[in-house]
Amino acid sequence: MNVYDSHRIAAILQNLGFTEASSLKTADLVIFNTCHIREKAAEKVFSDLGRLNMIRQERLAQGLDTIIGVVGCVVQAEDEQIAKRSPFVDFALGPLTYHRLPEILAKIQKKKGMTLIDTEFPAESKFDYLPDNTSMGGCSFLAIQEGCNNFCTYCVVPYTRGIETSRPVEDVIKEAKKLVSEGSLEINLLGQNVNSYHGEDSSGKERNLAYLLRKLNEIEGLERIRYTTSYPADVDDDLIACHKDLPKLMPYLHLPIQSGSDSILKAMNRRHTSGQYLETIHKLKEANPNLGFSSDFIVGFPGETDADFSATLDVVNKVKFIQAFSFKYSRRAGTPAALMPNQIEEKVKKERLEILQDLLFSYQLKFNKESVGKIMPVLFDNKGRHKGQLIGRTPYMQNLHAELGKEYCNKIVNIKITGATVNSLTGILEEK
Ligand code: SAH
Ligand code: SF4
Repeated sequence: MNVYDSHRIAAILQNLGFTEASSLKTADLVIFNTCHIREKAAEKVFSDLGRLNMIRQERLAQGLDTIIGVVGCVVQAEDEQIAKRSPFVDFALGPLTYHRLPEILAKIQKKKGMTLIDTEFPAESKFDYLPDNTSMGGCSFLAIQEGCNNFCTYCVVPYTRGIETSRPVEDVIKEAKKLVSEGSLEINLLGQNVNSYHGEDSSGKERNLAYLLRKLNEIEGLERIRYTTSYPADVDDDLIACHKDLPKLMPYLHLPIQSGSDSILKAMNRRHTSGQYLETIHKLKEANPNLGFSSDFIVGFPGETDADFSATLDVVNKVKFIQAFSFKYSRRAGTPAALMPNQIEEKVKKERLEILQDLLFSYQLKFNKESVGKIMPVLFDNKGRHKGQLIGRTPYMQNLHAELGKEYCNKIVNIKITGATVNSLTGILEEK
């Protein structure tokens, strides 16, 4: 979501006549887009700002001014801290107010020396004020839903991104068609809880994600559709049927479970048990036996016992995720879990994370190794580390490196997989 927001912010700046600087030292304006989900990410903002202040001072000595802005969820949660700890920051905008960037930049000229802050939860939708979304190349993001009403007890999202809102169906379809006309072959629909989508159609009727996916599947020129992130309890039969019916929907689904223990899931205020999660996975597999799953996990949630942790390992052994993101529980001020008794020691969290990741990586490696020898359509959208190399993604979101010229960039190409590690594949061109 932050990559998407940054892309939209860059478009606002382009409209105002800004061009991309080649380095921080030559930038007249620097905007940090920030994440508040875990403490480490939030703290990094302050150290990054400290480093940036040194560059700002070097530039000042040469008579050059630098405008510094911070946007994103850290601003929403810690606006006053930013002004206090980094007073050289000129402005701070929350994730729902960044469309007001032109106004705030205009004000800065007059109010240099103080931090202008806008962290309102605005009545208007930023999407109605932003310049049109533009293609990011072969793969584009398209935000269809924002915010969350689930209030998992560990999570800051409902406080930083606000209540759940969905964009109207027509706006999404129009934006998708524009992205495709500009060269996007793949669209990844974004939302904190993307499958809770309930946007209105032109007659004012509320439509679900399945409806939207079916509409998108009809767009000529669009080859691949993905959606992320889904909430397990909101996967309905309609959505499951899409995985059977829609050829453009990729056979990969990110479905976070967080923990395999029902008592921990309850304490997390998740609206699903591990049994219900496994049942959903089962139904999805029935709809499409080729589906691969990924998930998010939190270890060391307050009160997590060895038995609770084992239950998480059990789920991993049952689902055999092909990719996963796993984190140590991070205590976030203002969330109910931060005040729960039985907070888990750092040492235990670290041990559990290592055990979980070893298991997750073993399944990921196994899946990647099984890909060797297969031919897969790969969408290349990035340059590799060295010249003549491109990076792309298989239908299963595996990163793939291949020695290919840039004429293959932003194209879908059949690749024969020749090698695999935990994190990536290598392959060669199968057909010209
Ligand atoms: N809406 C999505 C996830 C959004 S946040 C969902 O419910 O699945 C992305 C991930 O960050 C979460 O899935 C969770 O695993 C992790 N996360 C959120 N808050 C956290 C915290 N306080 N400590 C550790 N991980 C956290
Ligand atoms: Fe956070 Fe996801 Fe839970 Fe919402 S559903 S509170 S975004 S973890």
